[in-house]
Amino acid sequence: MAPSKTLFCVPSVAKTPEEMAGDMASAAAIGADVVELRLDCLSSFQPRSDLERLLNNRPLPALVTYRPKWEGGEYDGDDDTRLEVLRLAVQLGADYVDVEFKVAEKFLNLISGQKPENVKLIISSHNYEMTPSVDELGNLAASIQSLGADIVKIVTTANDISDVSRMFQLIVHSQEKQVPIIGLVMKERGIISRLLCPKFGGYLTFGSLNKGKESAPGQITGSDLLNVYRIREIGPDTKVFGIIGKPVGHSKSPNLHNEAFRSVGFNAVYVPYLVDDLSSFLNTYSSPDFAGFSCTIPHKEAAVTCCDEVDPIAKAIGAVNTIIRRPSDGKLIGYNTDYVGAISAIEDGIAGYRVKDAAVSPLAGRLFVVIGAGGAGKALAYGAKAKGAKVIIANRTYERAKELANLIGGHALTLAELENYHPEDGMILANTTSIGMHPNVNDTPLSKQALKHYAVVFDAVYTPKVTRLLREAEESGANVVSGLEMFIRQAMGQFELFTGLTAPESLMRDIVMRST
Ligand code: NAP
Repeated sequence: MAPSKTLFCVPSVAKTPEEMAGDMASAAAIGADVVELRLDCLSSFQPRSDLERLLNNRPLPALVTYRPKWEGGEYDGDDDTRLEVLRLAVQLGADYVDVEFKVAEKFLNLISGQKPENVKLIISSHNYEMTPSVDELGNLAASIQSLGADIVKIVTTANDISDVSRMFQLIVHSQEKQVPIIGLVMKERGIISRLLCPKFGGYLTFGSLNKGKESAPGQITGSDLLNVYRIREIGPDTKVFGIIGKPVGHSKSPNLHNEAFRSVGFNAVYVPYLVDDLSSFLNTYSSPDFAGFSCTIPHKEAAVTCCDEVDPIAKAIGAVNTIIRRPSDGKLIGYNTDYVGAISAIEDGIAGYRVKDAAVSPLAGRLFVVIGAGGAGKALAYGAKAKGAKVIIANRTYERAKELANLIGGHALTLAELENYHPEDGMILANTTSIGMHPNVNDTPLSKQALKHYAVVFDAVYTPKVTRLLREAEESGANVVSGLEMFIRQAMGQFELFTGLTAPESLMRDIVMRST
């Protein structure tokens, strides 16, 4: 099916009419379909002359909004004056005029018989506290429509990401009844409403000109809507993937996966999910449209219990970073591509060896020292053990090292003991603590003196790209493997689980290198 026709609108929150004219030109230049003139944001404004000039010179269709304080806008004058300005916008032939539901009847009386056919009236309702039930949303939409709106606009607030699913249901119902509707949910937990409305058939979505020029909380930039999430290409059949985390706003995964999907022509979009309760999230977004998920902090452990089936090593590690909805029966299957990514990167770091070419792992029989016993430590320890390595765990909290060593059949050391530990040369070292991570770039988990016994040194930390540990290991003659390699490979593993296709390795490497 063809992508839907959701319009992309850039709001102008400029302070002067001159700046607003500039914003209109910029909105047209980035490819917006509509520009919203937020008259309430203008600090000085001569209605007739300014509005006439702005509308006469508009380079693209214009939506005129004059939002009062009582509906979350900036205008705090009297309503009669405000509605007169909106009437003027109708007379001047604005493409769209937005009026609030609470005063819509009054406004309709004011413009009675004067609205040209080509001016579309948007009747809007904003809820800055919460998102009502599906029934309440439906009743509200019906009331707005019965007043004679050309387009219904309902904007609510997300206190939990599951709130957005009710807005999607409203949009789908409105589509069935052929009622054009703008349905958006504000704040960070509502971001998917802005990204996925083309899939469900929303009439319009907003994207700001730049960061700092948003007209509502949670709005993202138009450039991200078009270039990262490619909303123009999203349609009813587009599969939805995304990263579940808290926080999640900083994640580079949407850039990486969306560009990778695009490069192979896979009809999918990858979005950020700010999730508080994993189980409730997965129960809410349980349709086949939501085809797969990446999981990051703090949900990797909970993901094990939320899946219907879990890959045995992911289960042993106690962490799932990838969930796929099996198309045949809709069951959620959990995997851990972190350990595959890290272990294959380390195997490739061993001189003269290529993972793809060998039947037996070069880790078999080698001494493999893991520093750290947290999530990444467990993944590395299990992965190395599964490859036949002799695993040693050293951790700040010795008890946790002991616990993990007992679980996998390895040995535990304190960090102090590790300094003088060298039963053999040519050992492999994996740092899985955050020691050395930005901004503490001068810290290192093991002295340079001790590093000379290691043939390969891996660091899970990837900010900075080259940590002090890796720099000193290289100076000591070891082969070094960066945490970025783990990051790239875990993402490639996810891509292959998501799409069933070979990951575009060089593209994914380029994107990660460019963004770090
Ligand atoms: P985690 O579960 O919180 O575990 C942290 C581990 O580091 C624990 O063993 C902890 O020791 C130890 N630790 C923390 N601060 C320490 C310090 N100042 N001195 C000594 N030990 C310290 O975290 P995680 O999820 O495993 O992540 C660990 C690191 O790996 C992070 O830097 C993360 O960014 C990185 N990572 C990278 C990738 C990648 O793709 N490259 C993937 C996942 C994680 P205690 O037990 O004593 O608290």
